[in-house]
Amino acid sequence: MAQHHRAPIESGCPDGFQYMHPVMRKNYGAWDYHEHPRPGVLLHVADNGDQIWTVRAGTQRILDVFTLRKLCEIGDEFAEGYVRFTIRSNIEYMVADEAKVQPLIDALETEGFVVGGTKNSVAMISHTQGWLHCDIPGTDASGVVKAMMDELIDEFRENNMPNRVHITTSCCQINCGGQGDIAINVQHTKPPKINHDLVSNVCERPSVVARCPVAAIRPAQVNGKPSLEVDEKKCICCGACYPPCPPMQINDAEHSQLAIWVGGNHSNARSKPTFQKLVAAGIPNNPPRWPEATAVVKQILKAYRDGARDWERINDWIERIGWPRFFESTGLPFTKFHIDNWRGARRSLNSSAHIRF
Ligand code: SF4
Ligand code: SF4
Repeated sequence: MAQHHRAPIESGCPDGFQYMHPVMRKNYGAWDYHEHPRPGVLLHVADNGDQIWTVRAGTQRILDVFTLRKLCEIGDEFAEGYVRFTIRSNIEYMVADEAKVQPLIDALETEGFVVGGTKNSVAMISHTQGWLHCDIPGTDASGVVKAMMDELIDEFRENNMPNRVHITTSCCQINCGGQGDIAINVQHTKPPKINHDLVSNVCERPSVVARCPVAAIRPAQVNGKPSLEVDEKKCICCGACYPPCPPMQINDAEHSQLAIWVGGNHSNARSKPTFQKLVAAGIPNNPPRWPEATAVVKQILKAYRDGARDWERINDWIERIGWPRFFESTGLPFTKFHIDNWRGARRSLNSSAHIRF
């Protein structure tokens, strides 16, 4: 009997070529050089002399539909109907006609979008999902980006930095999140508070016990009901128990704080990729403007701008001057707890699938 197999449903990313500007599609793999005529604008020239201008404007990662429509309308009216988003949530418009560049910039700026983010600028902050999408954040995501970029707008618009600066924000320390020249993360500093009345109705206790990286959670009977208890001496306040068990509340207005890490770099273009390292902790998680965290970021950027050589990324600069001078020049307090050279990693990192006691 003939078998009728259902054709697989393709999912995942669609083929990007169908959305590409025709000049880019035509010259795929055949570009000769590129230039940077002004901040926020790139010019690519193909082997056959074809030219394409890219105009970049900053947006946050999570866009409302009205802003998206506005961006698309600008693309239809002032560009050539082709856009793309960069990995740091900038929108880019491509045009093959130089005469369209300035009117496009004017249209974007008139609508309140900021053109910049190219070359040695502070690019748009990449952020995790925050309150809008995720069930465990300790702070907002787009909100932090908006508050910080309001203060860093000139650094986005201009090319004042020694090299590009990538900033990331993460609203917990366990799941998504990113490496960055500067990374701002939530750190919980107190173990979870357990609402014992709710645990047996809401949580699968074995999954919560299994979730803890340091085996600090045990089943317990509390007030005659099945619940959980935490060995607070072991708990590292990671917050991993909160997603599968919301009655283990770990977010706290005072004790969920921000920490800033620097020097992370995925790229191995000029030097080896590097891990970011902690340089400031205990910063208040202070919505809606997060002024304390922004002040630390600005201190670091100023010291980097003044002290680094051309084209040094933050990790290269610190590598050259050393950590003591990094703390001196940024004015951040230095303690021995700040730097982990990974030599103690067997104790400080959960580096295998086995639980160690
Ligand atoms: S960083 Fe954490 S809290 Fe924020 S969106 Fe990702 S998983 Fe959720
Ligand atoms: S916060 Fe992390 S370390 Fe503490 S009990 Fe929960 S899962 Fe375990």
